[in-house]
Amino acid sequence: MKKVLILEDEVSIRSFVVINLKRAGYEAIEAGTGAEALERLKENPDIGVAILDIMLPDIDGFEVCRTIRATNKSIGIIMLTARTQEMDKVTGLMTGADDYVTKPFSPAELTARIDALYRRIGGDTGADASEQQQGPFLLNTRNRTLEKNGRRIKLTQVEYAIMKLFMQNPGRALSREDILTSVWGRDFDGELKIVDVNIRRLRIKIEDDTANPTYITTVWGFGYKWGV
Ligand code: CA
Repeated sequence: MKKVLILEDEVSIRSFVVINLKRAGYEAIEAGTGAEALERLKENPDIGVAILDIMLPDIDGFEVCRTIRATNKSIGIIMLTARTQEMDKVTGLMTGADDYVTKPFSPAELTARIDALYRRIGGDTGADASEQQQGPFLLNTRNRTLEKNGRRIKLTQVEYAIMKLFMQNPGRALSREDILTSVWGRDFDGELKIVDVNIRRLRIKIEDDTANPTYITTVWGFGYKWGV
């Protein structure tokens, strides 16, 4: 089961998060202080995502984030920020956080962020195979590479993330909003057009005939669909 650490000193908020994490299929590891969080991480090196509150009784969440990042580059980190503290977002991202969620938040919002982060960091190890073959395409989630007919296709990180999303959802129409949220995160300020631009570039790289794409097809007025 995918493990998520929740560091929050307020018991009511922490229990609320734990219940919703469990409901979403995650194993929740709890901590009430920064020191405790670092201890839990040491005991559970397979934690994929950590949710860190900022105001804590011992050290602040930014410090916890910095300490984790000093030795762990691959874990996903989401900061819990207060609505009034705009600076928290900037500071959080500067100290190595991947995303932030503003209090008060809905359980659906938090789990959507965790899901997206798990996908983006490729934290879905374990039961998932690290290689996925679909038609002529071979996606390697460990090396973050894509091959077509045995030949490596050079992708940017964003293009790779889109390909991974497609290959995890074969035959499913994905809206441009879905793609934007999964790949760039919900708080990305750009326009939906950035999705189209990246798809256009991806098609040049992966389609047999860019003018008549067959792998990434357009779902008019909605988004795109992957199929082999
Ligand atoms: Ca707190």
